[in-house]
Amino acid sequence: GLEQADKTVDSVCPYCGVGCLLTYHVKDNKILYVTGRDGPANHGRLCVKGRYGFDYVHHRQRLTKPLIRKPGVPKSADFVVDPEHWQEVFREATWEEALDLAAGKLRQIRDTHGKHALAGFGSAKGSNEEAYLFQKLVRTGFGSNNVDHCTRLCHASSVAALLEGIGSGAVSNQVSDVMKAEVVLVIGANPTVNHPVAATWIKNAAKRGVKLIVADPRRTELARYATYFLQFKPDTDVALLNAMMYTIVEEGLVNEDFIRQRTEGFEALKENVKGYSPEKMAPICGIPAETIREVARLYAKSKGSMILWGMGISQHVHGTDNARCLIALALMTGQVGRPGTGLHPLRGQNNVQGASDSGLIPMVFPDYQRVDDPQARARFEKLWGTSLDPKPGLTVVEIMNAILDGQIKGMYIMGENPAMSDPDLRHAREALAKLDWLVVQDIFLTETAYLADVVLPASAWPEKTGTVTNTDRMVQLGRRALDLPGDARQDLWIIQEMARRLGLDWHYEGPESGVQAVFEEMRKAMPSIAGITWERLERESSVTYPCEKEGDPGQPVVFTERFPTKTGRGRFVPADLVPAAERPDDEYPWVLITGRQLEHWHTGAMTRRASVLDAIEPEPVASLHPLDLDVLGVKPGEVITVETRRGRISLFTRAEESTPRGAVFIPFCFYEAAANLLTNPALDPYGKIPEFKYCAAKVLRG
Ligand code: SF4
Repeated sequence: GLEQADKTVDSVCPYCGVGCLLTYHVKDNKILYVTGRDGPANHGRLCVKGRYGFDYVHHRQRLTKPLIRKPGVPKSADFVVDPEHWQEVFREATWEEALDLAAGKLRQIRDTHGKHALAGFGSAKGSNEEAYLFQKLVRTGFGSNNVDHCTRLCHASSVAALLEGIGSGAVSNQVSDVMKAEVVLVIGANPTVNHPVAATWIKNAAKRGVKLIVADPRRTELARYATYFLQFKPDTDVALLNAMMYTIVEEGLVNEDFIRQRTEGFEALKENVKGYSPEKMAPICGIPAETIREVARLYAKSKGSMILWGMGISQHVHGTDNARCLIALALMTGQVGRPGTGLHPLRGQNNVQGASDSGLIPMVFPDYQRVDDPQARARFEKLWGTSLDPKPGLTVVEIMNAILDGQIKGMYIMGENPAMSDPDLRHAREALAKLDWLVVQDIFLTETAYLADVVLPASAWPEKTGTVTNTDRMVQLGRRALDLPGDARQDLWIIQEMARRLGLDWHYEGPESGVQAVFEEMRKAMPSIAGITWERLERESSVTYPCEKEGDPGQPVVFTERFPTKTGRGRFVPADLVPAAERPDDEYPWVLITGRQLEHWHTGAMTRRASVLDAIEPEPVASLHPLDLDVLGVKPGEVITVETRRGRISLFTRAEESTPRGAVFIPFCFYEAAANLLTNPALDPYGKIPEFKYCAAKVLRG
């Protein structure tokens, strides 16, 4: 039987963007087990990560003391991380010494080389309050807008297209709306693996008669529930979507009233899709013309059609174009602004929505107020009592390049692991190693922390109180259940101590390291959450924004009357075919697709230290179609080497019929075979997102 807990604490899952509410059952400062709560996104359900993924918190490799790099220990991109022998690289220090050194050196770089010589990465795994304070530190303490986070690697292109097209990067409708839809299109997303509880709602809807269209180069598990499954060729999203729009125009299925009243730019789009008949696009995308037509009719004619998408859409050099097509599809058919319709980019991290809202983005302040808009800047200058840089900052991959160019010399990284998550890791690791000064704040000695000058031991999610915002725009309260191990500290406290040493006079006092004081300031900075009180969060645990005035119920469906653009109208933006930056050729004939596994979260820092999850997926694997394994003469479980122009890794094979022929799928969580050593850093020109979903590779036996 289960051991008896001595307390229970209600909180939120720290893994994916679904935002399941849960309860920790705690005894002697240990989480014994976790149960699902009746939250609006999960109704008591949890997936394997939320149920069994928590003992990383108690892992013996938790950082419990500030660490300072020993003099003379070189930084090299070829490091082998060995958290068990950290003493060879670092020595322990007091907080006073570590903070003075960490911030003092950053300050010195700022004063010698100017404000653009520093940059910061915040985290989509921390709270909104931490994200907000971190970006404020960079903007007011470093003095530039060089602050970004992993949204750049995730939905930056979707957000670019959404801001341009409909004026808001957040979802229009919540996942649960699939129940109210007649047709649901899931494209470039594998929710069974990446948003498992959301996937159960989609499956339920399909079982109740909602027509499900799944479009993906991989035959995902959700395809089993689909009325139409379109296994289109990798990299041909725009061909497929333009052909659907061609059909809708040609067959007179557009919503004339909606187009006239609520949009602009339709003529240009209509003109553009003329070149994309289903007959012409069928051989390109691999879907028969008649199927494209049937699906287009189904989507356009239904009373309510909803689109959900994931990284399969966003992580391409044409990611913004892909998303533009989805927006155009919804606008031309009027499938947005009502329950059971709309646009839902499924957010990956538990708080990537909130971290973006809170301003961990180089071109915008909190709530997407542009740094180069003088009025927005004036508002923040008043609120923060300081002058602000009008120049948009650099993005994740641009920062890495700026380090190698010698422009950026110092960085502060909180809770992110670019030495595993960035494309072309060798290049990213070389950049991190080249920094004159790197401060990393984290809970483990990650691959990134290994390259740091100072490592600051931080708090794990169950050790702190704060809000996170899920994919549905629900601001949810996470509560502290555990004491911190050793000398580890609250992230909010650490950020504040760093800020003070950079010359900022910060006093976020109050309960829980000032989290409420920070939240109150955020309400002043961010109209979208101005109406959410801390008391209400404590009472209800979850409040949907926009919630501009106290007592607002919050809006689950937005854009009902107008879009938050300057004109109030949605804008069509035509897209043409842009090939992947690197296509297969004779030397590198395979296509490499990267992604995630159900059990492991992103770079694996947490889940590979969660005993149950690690036991299920202990080793790096590459999935190939069984017939491709036959061609290679390799059996499932045997080792292959996958090589691209940027690197090579060896790992075990798995036969999966879901993988398209000619492709190899590798999750990016395995340090010992890091998929991102192989990926292409080519960027989408608008969202600046790298092309994680497509590059040329060779596959060798053994
Ligand atoms: Fe956590 Fe996402 Fe699983 Fe819910 S679906 S338990 S939020 S990982």
